[in-house]
Parts: sequence; structure tokens; C-alpha cells
Amino acid sequence: MVVKEKMGNIQCVKCRECGKEYEPQFRYICEDCFGPLDVKYTFHSNIKKDVFNLREKTYWRYFELLPIADKNNIVSLNAGLTPLQEADRLGKKLGFQNLFIKNDSMNPTFSFKDRPAGVAVSRAKETKLKAVGCASTGNLASATAAHAAKAELPCYIFAPSDIEHVKIAQALAYDAEFVAVDGTYDDANRVASIIGDSKGIGIVNINMRPYYVEGSKTLAFEIVEQLNWKVPDSLIIPVGSGAMLNAICKGFEELHELGLIDSIANLRIIAAQPHGCAPIVEAFRNGSDQVIPVERPKTIAKSLAIGDPGDGSYVLKRLKQYDGIAEEATDEEIIKGILSLARTEGVFTEPAGGVTIAVLQKLMEEGKIDKDETVVCYITGNGLKSTEAIMNTLPKINAVKPDIRLVSALIS
Ligand SMILES: *Cc1c(COP(=O)(O)O)cnc(C)c1O
Ligand SMILES: [Zn+2]
Repeated sequence: MVVKEKMGNIQCVKCRECGKEYEPQFRYICEDCFGPLDVKYTFHSNIKKDVFNLREKTYWRYFELLPIADKNNIVSLNAGLTPLQEADRLGKKLGFQNLFIKNDSMNPTFSFKDRPAGVAVSRAKETKLKAVGCASTGNLASATAAHAAKAELPCYIFAPSDIEHVKIAQALAYDAEFVAVDGTYDDANRVASIIGDSKGIGIVNINMRPYYVEGSKTLAFEIVEQLNWKVPDSLIIPVGSGAMLNAICKGFEELHELGLIDSIANLRIIAAQPHGCAPIVEAFRNGSDQVIPVERPKTIAKSLAIGDPGDGSYVLKRLKQYDGIAEEATDEEIIKGILSLARTEGVFTEPAGGVTIAVLQKLMEEGKIDKDETVVCYITGNGLKSTEAIMNTLPKINAVKPDIRLVSALIS
């Protein structure tokens, strides 16, 4: 017998392709058409703007809009409600008047992945799974492992072996089992998918994906609340699998459905990818709605090195729907973007954030964004996680004897 789960506000999970609805059980693909499933809610009309800011300073303040029925199942490391910083110095440099940085490098494991991982691990607790895991380009590994530690669940990571060492160290510190796959992210993903299903492991971004993606909606909720419930004009979002971009759109749509924001008709979504792995930008330029996978991604933005993006075709749909643009940045432009953000705003990001800033600059130069638009750039990961990406471009430091004359001669 299937025990009916406590559902909270969850109405069902619904196929994104054919619309078939399912009870929210351990299922992530439509049995009719193999489409992905999304969580649908029955919202109660008593959700009002002013309740949120009285609550905890984490993304769990939006509890009613997240797919957990019982608050006792929340596994929280206090992620979320990261700063939305007015980037006036970077804005002045590039020619913007209303530029904002959503600084998600300040999360507990130093990337936005604490949002989807925290929701998925909470869901794993709620449905009494015995183990969790993920396929990762680096950041999801530590986010899942940290939440699993807090939830007292074993955690299995599948990641390409060439990711940044510090990201491996971080996951191991949280005591995850780390499987370093000698191949691409897509290889690691395939392995994780099969092992997850055969061993009954909740792979947060594969067999728990309908719940996982919900966490990233809070990236929409927070900036709207931080902008006093105003909808910005343009969002620049770094894209790997495309799950975050899709979730941010879903977040705006739910706020609109709830009557918490007026119109989202003028919202524009901009997808940013690294040149060495930009299958979505490629499809966008060709006017195609099919994404052709990149077999061998080659970029310093390792967290975006997903050659076959799971949500790629849906990102293209979103771009159509929201007057969108897809643009790419080379490694050199990414590094410039990282340094430019660090040297104007004091925010040190990993290459994914460098992609966002590089694309911002490019679109300004091409006249595709106006100077007076309210623009929000998502800075999704911390620079300390990938120092090797910029080390070679920084000045070499040599040791000097503690002799005042020698040191004095160094200071111009
Ligand atoms: C995973 C990741 C992304 C991309 O998210 P997707 O949902 O895969 O598109 C962006 N930035 C950082 C830092 C990431 O770790
Ligand atoms: Zn279907």
C-alpha cells in the first residue's frame, strides 16, 4: 500500500510537457512522455507581503512557497537572504545607474547551491530517505554534503575528477563519500542517475529534481522583497544546467499568481554562459529550440561546464517568453569580470560570477541594456573556491627580508 504523504501546500507534481499530474511521490519523470515534473501548489490567499520580513533571515521565511509540509523537517544551515548590494562603483564604471549585485557567495557553503540542496535534503528527511547525494560540477557537492551532515544522512558525491581541489576538500570535510569520475560532468551525471535509482539514494539534482529546483525560486523572492516588492527590469543569470534560471522565472510567476507583485510583462531574462561551454547561447543565436550538447567543455568556469544542460530547451523557452538574450564570455573576459567586480565592489566571485559581469559589460557596450534600467546580476559563488582560475594573471609575490630599507624600496 502506498502511504499518502502529508502534502502541506503541495497540490501535485505536474509534467512540464503534457500536463499530467501525479501525487508527490518519489518520481521525477512523466511516465507518459518522459517530461520533467514540477511542483504545483495550492496557495492560500492569506499570504501577505508583510509577514515575510518579520521572520527568520533565511530563505525558509518563504516556507509556504516551498515543497515541505512539516516545518520540523526543515534542515537549515541559515542559507539565503544574502545581500542585494547596490553596485554604484561598478555601475559608474560600466555606465549603469541602477545596478545591483545579488551576492550569493555569502551562503554557508559559499554558493547559491545551499538553496536547492537545503530544500532537497529537507524533502529527503520528510520522505524518510536513507541517503542523499548529487552529481556536481563542484558547488553542489559541498552544499549537499553540509546539509546531509546536519540531517545525519550519508551523502554520495559524483563529480568530474578535474574540479577545483578546494571544492573536493570542502565536501570531504563534511564527510561525504566522493566518487571522482574520470570524465565530464555528463558522465558523472549518468553514473549518479543509475546508482541513485538502483541503491535508493536521493540524488538531489536528479531523482529529487522537482523539489531541488524549488529552492532556487527564493533567488526571485528575495530580490523582489529587497527591492521593496518592485520587479527589476533585467536579470543576468549564469547558466549551467539551466535549473536556476528556470526556477527564478517560476518564482516570479508564483509571486504574480499570489498577487504580491503587479506585472512581470516587462521583466527581461538574460542567460550568461562561458564561451567554452555555451550550448544554449549557440542555440539562441541560431534561433533553434534544440540545444546541441558540447561534448568536451573547456572553460575556467567549471561550475558552468555542463555540456548537455538538462533544462536547456526550457531556458530557450524562457528567453522567448521574457524578451531574453543569451550571451557568452571568454576565459579572458571572465577573469576581467572577476577582477572588475572585486576592484569596484569588494566582492570576490568565482568564474561563474565573472561570466555574469562580463556579459553585463558586453550587453552595455552593444546597447542592449539601457543605462537607467534596474539590473540585477546574480553572483552565485565565492572567489575563494577557485583561486587557481586567476592566480596566473595576478602579480607574482616574492618574499623579502624584514629589512625596512628593502621593504621601503618596494613601496612606490
Ligand atoms: C551550479 C552553478 C550555476 C548554474 O546553475 P544551474 O542550475 O546548473 O544552471 C551557477 N553558478 C554557480 C556558482 C554554480 O555552482
Ligand atoms: Zn508528460
